[in-house]
Amino acid sequence: MPFTAKVITTTQWGARAAIQDSFELTRPMYIVIHHTGDPNPPKDRSKGILPGAKQLARETQSFHMDGNKWSDSGHNFLNTTGGLILEGRHGTLNAVRKGFCIRSAHAAQDGERLARGNESPGIENEGNFMISAMGQKQWNSLVELCVSLCSSCDISPENIRGHRDFSNTDCPGDWLYAQISQLRQEVATKLGISMTAGVIKMGSKGTMVKELQTKLQEKGLNPGVIDGIFGEMTRIAIIAFQTSKNLPADGIVGEKTRELLGL
Ligand SMILES: [Zn+2]
Repeated sequence: MPFTAKVITTTQWGARAAIQDSFELTRPMYIVIHHTGDPNPPKDRSKGILPGAKQLARETQSFHMDGNKWSDSGHNFLNTTGGLILEGRHGTLNAVRKGFCIRSAHAAQDGERLARGNESPGIENEGNFMISAMGQKQWNSLVELCVSLCSSCDISPENIRGHRDFSNTDCPGDWLYAQISQLRQEVATKLGISMTAGVIKMGSKGTMVKELQTKLQEKGLNPGVIDGIFGEMTRIAIIAFQTSKNLPADGIVGEKTRELLGL
């Protein structure tokens, strides 16, 4: 499926030229969800309208370039309270339409957290979602954008993550972070993908297994070596966790186990 989300380009919102002519093309693995920390409606900076959205994009770019000393907007997309989506870093739209992203500056890796955030599209959502919920229009445009990105860049909805998974930050706020499983679900449904494909079990390998093992260890269980390979030790640790939570102790990480583990 091609990229179909409607996006206001850097030219259309009157972006400043970036300091670099172009940015490195990347193969994105995740979609990274942010919040801007700005006021929520009715005090939202964009006022839910097009001129306000364009102005917010210009001001955010200036803040990133003049304040943070970055070469351009740090994010790839800005999703405003009115559900308008604006391109962030120059070249993003062309890149994602071809299945790539461009290196940006929204999710640097801190310590042992996830890597490859800056190689993946970062979506800034206007507002502060520590406590407040997002309005329906903005939520719908976030879902649409994620559907387009998952589809054109071949990103699994399971890999929609919050900024705090990569960096030492509260972003995207407690409320929005807690909605990410819902977001994944809605995106998967629109893509016609069954989330059961994301079940982690004996023989599974990769980043998700590594995160699972880390979570188990944090909870005082012993998954064996944190090697990203789901073996017998990890299975026994899962069974112990499931038993402690009164879940069916099948040693398979499905939706409920995943949720209770905070994965
Ligand atoms: Zn962020």
